[in-house]
Amino acid sequence: MSKHPAQAIQDLQFFGEFGGVNPSISDSSTYTFISAKSMSDTFEGNTEGCYLYSRHSSPTNLYLCKALAYMEGTEDATVFASGIGAITSTIMQICSAGDHIVASRTIYGGTYAFLKNVLPRFGITTTFVDITNKDIIEEAMTEQTKMLYCESVSNPLLEVVNFECLSNLCKAHKLQFVVDNTFSPLLIQPFVLGADIVIHSLTKFINGSSDTVAGAVCASSEFINSLKDVHSGVAMLLGQTLDSFRAASILKNLRTLPIRMQKHSENAMYLSREFEKLGYKVCYPGLETHKQHDLLKSFFNQDMGYGGIMTVDFGSLEKANAIMEMMQHNNLGYLAVSLGFYKTLFSASGTSTSSEISEEEREEMQLSNGLVRFSIGLDHDIKTTFKQMLASIKLAEDALNVNLVS
Ligand code: PLP
Repeated sequence: MSKHPAQAIQDLQFFGEFGGVNPSISDSSTYTFISAKSMSDTFEGNTEGCYLYSRHSSPTNLYLCKALAYMEGTEDATVFASGIGAITSTIMQICSAGDHIVASRTIYGGTYAFLKNVLPRFGITTTFVDITNKDIIEEAMTEQTKMLYCESVSNPLLEVVNFECLSNLCKAHKLQFVVDNTFSPLLIQPFVLGADIVIHSLTKFINGSSDTVAGAVCASSEFINSLKDVHSGVAMLLGQTLDSFRAASILKNLRTLPIRMQKHSENAMYLSREFEKLGYKVCYPGLETHKQHDLLKSFFNQDMGYGGIMTVDFGSLEKANAIMEMMQHNNLGYLAVSLGFYKTLFSASGTSTSSEISEEEREEMQLSNGLVRFSIGLDHDIKTTFKQMLASIKLAEDALNVNLVS
């Protein structure tokens, strides 16, 4: 049996100079070579053990890469200046003009916009599908399809992927199975479940302090080396390099990810249950009413819970906005995009992170304007938070009625 990912990241030891308990930060953009021959060898691709230039890799970034690869059970990993940098680089490394992608229709809006609006300019097309429907996915595949792209738990509809089914489909059709695991680090290990490439926005839960933008790709050494190849690797040639200082701070935060995920999950489970009991339209993978609840239970790391993201559909944008403003006013969280912070963050996805998706398409996938995505924080006393949330909802509704009448 493979090691629990939480144990894997905490078992890794990287010492710094003078026996420091954290690795030293490499503060150089370029590196000396002992001989001219070893420099030219490096440009020929023999980079093993050599540092060339920090856009290619740096010792500090490689520590973080190693920890992330360990966490996802992959051979290797590489890090980027943003999650979208990791996504766009992966896609551009794999696809060329004439190729086709099948992607889930419920994915992060930026990824959707890249696939829909940017890639066609380079001759790469995408068909967006309901990722929970095998027949529709298979129908969308053509001779030109190179990749199946989705998120383990989708943004913002929280649909959970059937890894076994999709991985078999990808094997049968010889496609790369690429999964963004940003919403569910530690609870889901897509590579172990059959994905080829796992992507993270480190900006979210993994870093967890909302001070950094960063991304990662975890995959085979062959794919990671292809991304970093000095002559043809888009990680190297598009230059979305993560700074060593940021990599060092993300690595330190990664070590507390297991206890943070447990607390995010515990709080989200409590709130979603309580809201559901009162009749709110709640979506959370931990609820028995969630469509893929049993599926997720069959493969997730149970001790990490069901994750920190839940949605509540308040019926209209006007109501959602009033409620979010009132909750922020009462210090229950922030009206902000992103996720994985110690404080609860909320936004109306349809008019924010998913606004790239047209209104018609949002309607089709039942992403209503009143849907609020909550990234539940690490609140110490979630029962009191819940009571205060209900009071804020009531105040917002009362204020709205007054406003509507006046
Ligand atoms: N993937 C998901 C699921 C996201 O929610 C985001 C959000 O921004 C991204 C990728 C992009 O990551 P970043 O903002 O770090 O570029």
